[in-house]
Amino acid sequence: MKCFWDDRQRAHAPGGEFFNGALHPAAEHPGRVDAILSAVDPTEAPSDFGLEPILRVHSADYVEFLRTAHDQWRDAGRDGDAFPYTFPVVGRRPLKLSRIDALLGQYSFDTSSPIGPGTWEASYWAVQTALAATDAVLGGERSAFALCRPPGHHCGKDYLGGYSYLSNAAIASEHAIATGRTRVAILDVDYHHGNGTQDIFYDRADVAYASIHAEPGTDYPFFWGHADETGSDEGEGATLNLPLPRGTDWSGYGAALTQALDWVESHQPDLLIVSYGADTYERDPISRFELKTSDYTPMARRIAALGLPTVVVMEGGYAVEALGANVAGFLSGF
Ligand SMILES: [Zn+2]
Repeated sequence: MKCFWDDRQRAHAPGGEFFNGALHPAAEHPGRVDAILSAVDPTEAPSDFGLEPILRVHSADYVEFLRTAHDQWRDAGRDGDAFPYTFPVVGRRPLKLSRIDALLGQYSFDTSSPIGPGTWEASYWAVQTALAATDAVLGGERSAFALCRPPGHHCGKDYLGGYSYLSNAAIASEHAIATGRTRVAILDVDYHHGNGTQDIFYDRADVAYASIHAEPGTDYPFFWGHADETGSDEGEGATLNLPLPRGTDWSGYGAALTQALDWVESHQPDLLIVSYGADTYERDPISRFELKTSDYTPMARRIAALGLPTVVVMEGGYAVEALGANVAGFLSGF
């Protein structure tokens, strides 16, 4: 299996994230990459596909904001990472505001995802990594792994959050459509619901989205990922949410996986994109499922048994001491 990685993804190194009323060490940090690289040997570096594939998913004004936000933050006389503090939840009118604090609120949905001096560069190369892996599979490889960081499944067309700034999986999906594929399926097996990916394709039938995740009544991102969210307009029926309670182990997870795989198969996709998060692991510090390292290989084998050309895109996973083994175990199933 070809593994893609670009070292520029290390440039995003948040000094902390804000939750529970305080700044905490960032769970999503470059040390995650070291853990994965200790167990997985990436053989391929991505080429530069440019901004065009990004702009198929994200609005031009959002991309411009993300590219320049930290410079604007510094120009305002601030040190450290840029954080929002005011959110326009009541009527999100596209006001032409210019103050950086207004823009941060306009384009963020939480306070877990600061923008530092290297956030744009790292996010840009995470996208290129996902595109290169996708190109390899579209070119005939049976499967490929994109070691993407920061992750992407929580950010939407014009907003960031959940450690996500650019939607690696959505951009890869649109790239496949733009190069002639007609149907793509995304299977999201991160612990958290991929609200951004769902939002991007919610009214579309050509990109189906299935997610197995923690019950959003108890777990982040709370407002999305409920079982009755099934898509809208032309996309009605092209979204599947399978929320599971905290404490779910392989027996409960495996049953949901069967349901998700049957559903993916029924959509007859030309390409499968797997948003893989290793935060379903039993000792993940921010998550509450009970999967073991030994569960990831059978999980991947069952996905591989669909026989679809498959791109695996890295999402979350924060138990650094086991992350390498969990990722390597998953990839070995292909
Ligand atoms: Zn997650």
